[in-house]
Formats: sequence, structure tokens, C-alpha cells
Amino acid sequence: MKTYLASTNAGKLRELEAILSDSELELLIYPDYRETAEDAPSYIGNAILKARALAEQLREAGEEAAVLADDSGIEVDALGGRPGLRSARYAGPESDWPQRRALLLSELQGVPDLLRTARFICVMALIVPGRELLTSLGVVEGYILGADRGRGGFGYDPLFLYPAAGRSFAELAPEQKNAVSHRRRAADALLAALRSESS
Ligand code: IMP
Repeated sequence: MKTYLASTNAGKLRELEAILSDSELELLIYPDYRETAEDAPSYIGNAILKARALAEQLREAGEEAAVLADDSGIEVDALGGRPGLRSARYAGPESDWPQRRALLLSELQGVPDLLRTARFICVMALIVPGRELLTSLGVVEGYILGADRGRGGFGYDPLFLYPAAGRSFAELAPEQKNAVSHRRRAADALLAALRSESS
């Protein structure tokens, strides 16, 4: 099924293409996608906003295809769940990745290892023309390291320790991260819902 992704984030696209490569969703980028304001008070609200905005654009363009949107973030317990919904804008809208990770480290200065618990969250919304909206959630638990480790992945990956591997997400090979990530878990749940709805 031809499926346009409501995102321009290259890291997400790369991972989702790999995660969905064996599925019935053939993932494509819609070149004219206009980003919508992510101002809902929840991940699910934002994912639905993005999916509906692109579905509306496709309708206007007379294109019949499914739309997939995801909203994600990292929640740090010692910071009361921040950056959370604001993960992409943490440290200000003009900040870059080294600045966002540096701010996270400075906010966690003095917090001992065992209290540096955190999780990546991913929520997905899928709109297939003529069918019910489907949504799903994926979560992966870990810890925030004291310094960057590894060069893979994107965003907060160098600071996210995945305990089962004893490595940061940025130290894992792409296929290792994609086998266990919040995005993989949300995609698996979404495909299960899609398949049970179709059967
Ligand atoms: P959004 O889903 O486009 O609103 O942005 C989510 C933000 O959460 C990203 O820009 C990253 O800051 C962070 N994030 C989400 N997933 C990951 C991941 O797998 N690795 C690293 N950072 C992530």
C-alpha cells in the first residue's frame, strides 16, 4: 500500500524505511509536504494532526494513498518527564544537537546513574482512505549517560543507554537499534492492528 510519511526528519525516515521494508506499507516521501504546527498537548494528538494535515494535502492534490505520521520524544524521570513533547525544541528552536545534548547533561549534573532513568516514546497514526484511523504506541526504557557515546543514530541516541545491550543507541548498528527501538515497537503494534482490522 502506497504510504506517504508526514515528516521531513531524515533520521526518522531512514529508520522507518528499514523497519517497514518487509511490510505491506510502501513508505514514500511526499515532496510537497507542508509541516504543520505540532501544538497538541500529547504525542497522539500531534501524530493525528500531522497525519490529517498530509491526508488533506493529498486529497487536495487528488492523490489516493495512505498516510503515516509519528510523534516521538524522550522523557527523563529526574526532569519530571522533560524534554518529552518538546524534545525537538529543547534548548530553543534554533539549537543544534550538541547544544540539546549539552543542556540535558547540565540539567542532570549530580544525578546518580541509577536515577537517570529515561524512555523514548513513539506514537504512530495511520490513515488509510475509507478506513478507521489507526494509532499505536512504542516505548523503550533506558538511562541517560554522563557523556556522548557512539556515532550512529541521531538526536539523543549518543546519550541513551540501552541496558539490555550495555551500549548507547548510537553505539548499536542500525539494524540492532531498529530491532528494539520505540519506533520498531510502535510500527509492530500498528501493523498488528492493521492486519487484525483487515482479517
Ligand atoms: P518529532 O517526533 O518530530 O516531534 O521529534 C521528536 C524528537 O525526539 C526528535 O527530534 C528527537 O529529538 C527525539 N527523538 C525521537 N526519536 C529519537 C531517536 O530514535 N533517537 C534520538 N532522538 C529521538
